[in-house]
Amino acid sequence: MSTLEIKDLHVTVETEQGTKEILRGVTLTIESGQTHAIMGPNGSGKSTLAYSIAGHPKYTVTSGSITLDGEDVLAMSVDERARAGLFLAMQYPVEVPGVTVSNFLRTAKTAVTGEAPKLRTWVKDVKGAMENLRMDPVFAERNVNEGFSGGEKKRHEILQMELLEPKMAILDETDSGLDVDALRVVSEGVNRAKEKTGAGVLLITHYTRILRYIEPDFVHVFVDGRIAEQGGPELADRLESEGYDRFLAPSPTV
Ligand code: ADP
Ligand code: MG
Ligand code: MG
Repeated sequence: MSTLEIKDLHVTVETEQGTKEILRGVTLTIESGQTHAIMGPNGSGKSTLAYSIAGHPKYTVTSGSITLDGEDVLAMSVDERARAGLFLAMQYPVEVPGVTVSNFLRTAKTAVTGEAPKLRTWVKDVKGAMENLRMDPVFAERNVNEGFSGGEKKRHEILQMELLEPKMAILDETDSGLDVDALRVVSEGVNRAKEKTGAGVLLITHYTRILRYIEPDFVHVFVDGRIAEQGGPELADRLESEGYDRFLAPSPTV
């Protein structure tokens, strides 16, 4: 059992207009096996939360804490976070010239576990995971993210999740740019990886449609850098019919 605990997290970024506070007190606890959906309007700080957990250097934590099983995540380097079992799906969004998907995955697995996986079982594992995600075997020999379509990028992310077997996976907008078939395949991949590893999942999304395939245990509505409301799956249904207006409307004057 693992617990990712975020307490009263405040995060700023440097912009041309100066320092801007984006996260304004986020508190959230995720246990192994749980799926938490973070939903919210564009610009509410959802990706900032993901980047802050992953340790992106652009985001400065000014107060609050993040711990994984009591260990101070904020004191860890990005690599240490990955070794501790944190996985961020958009961790490697850049093209990596000259590095094939196959080599990249093996290097990542070695970095996370501390030893190179046995080649024979590894090749089999990669092949199996790719079949599950309906990926052409040729994909393994392509360079990472070079000319990947949106759908290929997302499949590659979930392929990483399946193979790296993290304790906690943070999936940011995994549904964006996917058609319904791809969405189903990618969602099945997440569910399979979850089932296999018992990972906790933080699923960040703007739309409710992915939640038809990956059922959340908890839904958090994210507005203006903090959680405005939390509930169960029924909250997602409400958001689908009502949108975010209710949360964005100015408070009535008394
Ligand atoms: P979401 O993922 O919910 O759409 P983001 O976390 O991407 O929201 O962004 C939240 C706010 O912070 C936005 O106003 C965005 O412009 C701003 N922001 C995020 N990252 C940066 C950055 N690196 N530099 C400047 N502003 C940023
Ligand atoms: Mg956005
Ligand atoms: Mg975002």
